[in-house]
Amino acid sequence: MVNFNATTSRRNALRWLTSGAALATALPFVGAFSKALDAASAERGGTSPPVPDDIGTYPFSLPELPYAYNAVEAAVDAETMEIHHTRHHQAYVNNLNDALEDRPDLHDAPLPDLLAALDDLPATIRTVVRNNGGGHLNHTMFWNMLAPDGGGSPQGEVADAIDANFGGLPAFKEAFQEAAAGVFGSGWGWLVSDHKGALSIVQTANQDSPLMDGLRPLLGVDVWEHAYYLRYRQDRGGYLANFWEVVNWPAVNERYILEG
Ligand code: MN
Repeated sequence: MVNFNATTSRRNALRWLTSGAALATALPFVGAFSKALDAASAERGGTSPPVPDDIGTYPFSLPELPYAYNAVEAAVDAETMEIHHTRHHQAYVNNLNDALEDRPDLHDAPLPDLLAALDDLPATIRTVVRNNGGGHLNHTMFWNMLAPDGGGSPQGEVADAIDANFGGLPAFKEAFQEAAAGVFGSGWGWLVSDHKGALSIVQTANQDSPLMDGLRPLLGVDVWEHAYYLRYRQDRGGYLANFWEVVNWPAVNERYILEG
């Protein structure tokens, strides 16, 4: 993962996760992420904010899109949305369930916990869970980060944080697009928050999640070719320019909860 904001302490983020994993006992993965969040929230005098995506536990299932396939055509065409949802996302779900089928000790673990403690997973399923668990989580969040009536400007606490961290919305958009355009091969661009509420822009490769590095995803953009190729062909920059038209800013703000 590449971090574009020198003010964010990667070391602190990693320590945050490590402290959560260290609490593991009989079921080492259940609660690893939420415990890490609790510890971080207590440190700043609040309570733990929820991860606002109902992903649940094994067996995982493909969530319904919260809008029609043609509802975000200001940025992405209906055919791409349908293939992306029913083929690509479904495949991540299927592969994740297949990997966990014979591991009942992991069936009660929420997906963010599994991803936050990848190093503790058996080597035989670690990569499959990383790629497909990450894919399921990233896409579930991604659909909820878009909206048919999206776009415009952020409101609320995250708007203030964007101003404070990036010097305003235009500068943030430019930096976010540059980061997402610069992902080599397949991956994601993200606006993330650390456990102290500081924002930064990061890239992840393949289906890695910022959660793996102890960072909370607020806004992500899928820059795999399957996300844009039918309309935009090789023009990832054109896709990113239109992406802003469908960003669900209220949802982004909801993810950025500093006070419990
Ligand atoms: Mn995708």
